[in-house]
Amino acid sequence: MLHAKEIITKLQTEHKASGAELLELLRCEDVYIKEELRKAAQAQAQETFGKAVYLRGLIEFSNFCKNDCLYCGIRKSNRSCSRYRLTEEDILSCCKEGYNSGFRTFVMQGGEVGRDIHVFRDLVADTSEEAIDREAAYILEFEKSMMRK
Ligand code: SF4
Repeated sequence: MLHAKEIITKLQTEHKASGAELLELLRCEDVYIKEELRKAAQAQAQETFGKAVYLRGLIEFSNFCKNDCLYCGIRKSNRSCSRYRLTEEDILSCCKEGYNSGFRTFVMQGGEVGRDIHVFRDLVADTSEEAIDREAAYILEFEKSMMRK
């Protein structure tokens, strides 16, 4: 088994580590090793992303969930939660509004319910055809309107 310091070096050079090695780092209590790991992670992040800050629009497309995690406001046993599920049109409308606000990528988030997967899968499939035309048309229109300003 490698020592924590060697695992950090391995991560920096090979960009991989075994499960046991990652566990070794997570369990490490040595403040110097932790600081070294933090600096290595920061250096890697800056090498990959630079100093830019990337923002993503978050679309919570449903708050139905079959699970019951105690800390979560949308857990299935929370009777006071008002449930909703966005339609495909709603989601695309959110993307449009987000685009207007400057977002260019979106994260879809929702509770865990199997049937929502189908809606989402249909949406993604649709995005490759009709919706992409709609969005492309919208983006084109948006770009044109920005050029007029
Ligand atoms: S949304 Fe996530 S955290 Fe909340 S109850 Fe469902 S699985 Fe748990």
